[in-house]
Amino acid sequence: MKKHNFYAGPSILPKYAIEKSAEAVLNFSGSGLSILEISHRSKEFQAVMDEAQALFKELLEIPAGYEVLFLGGGASTQFYSVPMNLMKKKAAYLKTGNWANRAIAEAKLLGETDVVASSEDKNFTYVPKGYKVPTDADYFHITTNNTIYGTEIKEDLNVGIPMVADMSSDIFSRPVDVSKYAVIYGGAQKNLAPAGLTFIVVNPELLGKTDRSMPIMVDYRTHISKGSMYNTPPVLQVFTALMTMQWLKDLGGVPAIMERNIEKSDLLYNEIERNKLFVGTVAKEDRSRMNVCFVISDEYKDLDADFLALATQKGIVGIKGHRSVGGFRASLYNALPLESVQLLIETMQEFEASH
Ligand SMILES: *Cc1c(COP(=O)(O)O)cnc(C)c1O
Repeated sequence: MKKHNFYAGPSILPKYAIEKSAEAVLNFSGSGLSILEISHRSKEFQAVMDEAQALFKELLEIPAGYEVLFLGGGASTQFYSVPMNLMKKKAAYLKTGNWANRAIAEAKLLGETDVVASSEDKNFTYVPKGYKVPTDADYFHITTNNTIYGTEIKEDLNVGIPMVADMSSDIFSRPVDVSKYAVIYGGAQKNLAPAGLTFIVVNPELLGKTDRSMPIMVDYRTHISKGSMYNTPPVLQVFTALMTMQWLKDLGGVPAIMERNIEKSDLLYNEIERNKLFVGTVAKEDRSRMNVCFVISDEYKDLDADFLALATQKGIVGIKGHRSVGGFRASLYNALPLESVQLLIETMQEFEASH
């Protein structure tokens, strides 16, 4: 049976990227060797790294001067790397969920951390607004998409100081004005590549301003000076990321995928609003296009397991909600086809008709 993959992460990747990666595992670039067993310094892999950095810049329209790094470690390594590299005295943070919380905890170890606003009072079901960002902070950190709670900051904010964004789960889902950001980072395993790869977009002009000494691997300048090859990068993940980006470019790039993401998420949110069995958990204006959270309405409670069973029977995978929200979470990442969303909606309608 065909599977419809709604996992939150690691999550669906384009079939093209998976097939090309499988080929490269068997015979990479006609070398007669697997990509798993060649030097990262070989000319074949160097070309992959160069192209991946160039295409990342092209697709996100990254301004000249910015650097793109592909490192190991995951987004969580950036929770401390960002303050290490950028925090002179003080940084501002927006507390919108679990991942933001972890970033805040690491920043607190390194300096004055001003949490300017939080949505914890309502279990992170909205994005705070109307707060002031201190102009003497070195940066303002946001989590653009809150994967667990299904809220998203869908436009670039104007706060007067450089922003830093964890874009793990919405990178390449919409155009971004990169010039507003000092750093954009994320784990690749939601919209780009298999787990094990971290992408970092950084404005080098803002580096080297702290008195802090730091481990060489943490210093962004180390990786910039070596073209992201100071140590061995996760080679297969970089290759898959390149294939995902080629797929994205072929279908019209980031503006085109944003249109598709709007279409997919609108369809599902409309059905949640219409269907008497379900309710959304998130403030309407802050709804994520990537992770759609919903629960069974109070009147019909205790039907969670039944709906999950019906969905499973249809080949729908990965919609069980995160334990801190409950209910359901359908992740609609770039690679998820419209047909999968349509099947989920039909399944919700069938479930409604039987109650
Ligand atoms: C998944 C996720 C993370 C964690 O990423 P790791 O690569 O596992 O460290 C961090 N932030 C956000 C927004 C995420 O969705």
